[in-house]
Amino acid sequence: MQQVLVLNASYEPLNVTTVRRAHVLVFKGKAEVIEELEEPLRSATDTYPRPHVIRLVQYVRVPRTLQRKISRRALFARDGWRCAYCGETGGRLTLDHVVPRSRGGESVWENVVTSCAPCNMRKGNRLPEEVSMSLRAKPRPPAPVLFIHLATPRIPNRWQPYLRGLTEASTATA
Ligand SMILES: [Zn+2]
Repeated sequence: MQQVLVLNASYEPLNVTTVRRAHVLVFKGKAEVIEELEEPLRSATDTYPRPHVIRLVQYVRVPRTLQRKISRRALFARDGWRCAYCGETGGRLTLDHVVPRSRGGESVWENVVTSCAPCNMRKGNRLPEEVSMSLRAKPRPPAPVLFIHLATPRIPNRWQPYLRGLTEASTATA
C-alpha cells in the first residue's frame, strides 16, 4: 500500500498516512502537497495530484504526554537494540522499568529501557543504584521519525531529504 509522509508546518516529519487520508487533508485545505507521484488520483469528475509528501498548513504541537504508545519494537529501536545498562547487543532483549512498577514507576518513555535478560534479572525489583548498575543514557521519548522508520521499512527516495539528519538524533538517545 502506498504511504504518504506527513510533515508539520515546520517541515519536521510527523507521521505516515494513507493516500486517501492525505488527499482529504489537502482537499480540506489543511495540508499542501509537497511531493506528488506521477499517476494522479481520479474522481468521477476531477483529477488531483497523488500525494507522496504533504505539509500541514498549521503547525501542530505534539505534546510530550501524547507521545506514541510504548511497544517493545519501538523501545528496542530507540535504544539501538542494545542493553541500556551493559551495552550488550546479542541475546534476548527485554523491557525494563527503571523505577520498578512495584515501586510506583510509570510506563512512560522516560522510565522504560531496553535491557538484556541477565541485567533485568540482576536488577529485579530494585533501582539501578541499589544494585550498582547505571544507565548509559537518560531515557527519552523517541522522535516521530523513529515511528516513520518503523512504519515504513523501505523509505522512498523522495522522502529522504525530509528525514535526513533526524535518524541519528532519534536513535542515539540511549
Ligand atoms: Zn545488560
